[in-house]
Amino acid sequence: MNENRTTLVDTATSSQADRYAVFGHPIGHSKSPRIHKLFAEQTGQNLVYTAQEVPADTFKAAADAFFAAGGKGLNCTVPLKELAWNYANSLSEAAAAAKAVNTLALAADGSILGDNTDGIGLLNDLIANLRIELPGAAILILGAGGACRGILAPLLKQKPASLVIANRTPARAQAIADDFKPLFPVEACGYGALPGQSFNLIINATAASLSDELPPLPAGLLAANGTCYDLAYANRPTAFVRWGLANGAAKSVDGLGMLVEQAAEAFYIWRGRRPATAPVIGLLDAERQSADRNPDA
Ligand code: NAP
Repeated sequence: MNENRTTLVDTATSSQADRYAVFGHPIGHSKSPRIHKLFAEQTGQNLVYTAQEVPADTFKAAADAFFAAGGKGLNCTVPLKELAWNYANSLSEAAAAAKAVNTLALAADGSILGDNTDGIGLLNDLIANLRIELPGAAILILGAGGACRGILAPLLKQKPASLVIANRTPARAQAIADDFKPLFPVEACGYGALPGQSFNLIINATAASLSDELPPLPAGLLAANGTCYDLAYANRPTAFVRWGLANGAAKSVDGLGMLVEQAAEAFYIWRGRRPATAPVIGLLDAERQSADRNPDA
């Protein structure tokens, strides 16, 4: 009897639930469905959030079909953020500056708003969770891809003393520095120009961590009491997190906190509710440590 009643309630609930999804390729590893389920439970919101494998060449058709079927919002991850930027009918200031969109939202008039919550997600993790001082800091970003673009404007608004972008392909770093010149004198260089410089905060925005590699970083690059932040995240400390620990970082962390914080901003855009992020970060962190200790469990 009870089982039947539960089934009926669940069916009614999911048929009325607003639908959201994350599109990407590959997407199998995504923690976003779990994060949004936890947010929905915490805030009492009736929604369904799924992950969908969407290669770049099918993005427009998949997004059209999702919204035509009544979907309310999408997250877009690698390699779709630029396509999502083109897809949106209007852009937030953050998305316009980043030239990349990670959150699409259906507006009341049926149009699609594009936003980028990566930058505010990183800031919330750095400032609110990790208590890092950004005003007056010397900041180095490694890498000049979409993630670097997404985090740059919010970081610059914090008024650092300096901001350098170093990239394997220096011309890509220079192109971003040129775009942001009206906002701040961002410097661009290759890794060969780093010896002799030192920074309070080094952010790894390269994809090198995904293959457990590191860009070539000289000793002495991190100032005393400095912070290392890897945008990538994994069950074990990434190569960059390990480099930070070996080079005297006061804090050397990966991007799990940013992942949860950028999701919370997307949730707020869609639902107008701000979930508490600390319990979700704590839970996911505990789960990954347990998965690392018991890989076959
Ligand atoms: P992307 O656009 O593909 O850019 C990749 C960057 O990494 C480029 O600058 C590339 O240099 C550099 N790179 C790749 N392999 C390298 C290697 N072996 N050595 C040195 N540099 C290398 O990627 P993205 O979208 O910016 O993402 C970058 C990272 O941020 C990824 O790990 C992603 O998972 C992470 N991320 C995390 C969050 C979060 O919520 N935690 C959010 C967004 C992104 P070239 O220009 O020379 O090719």
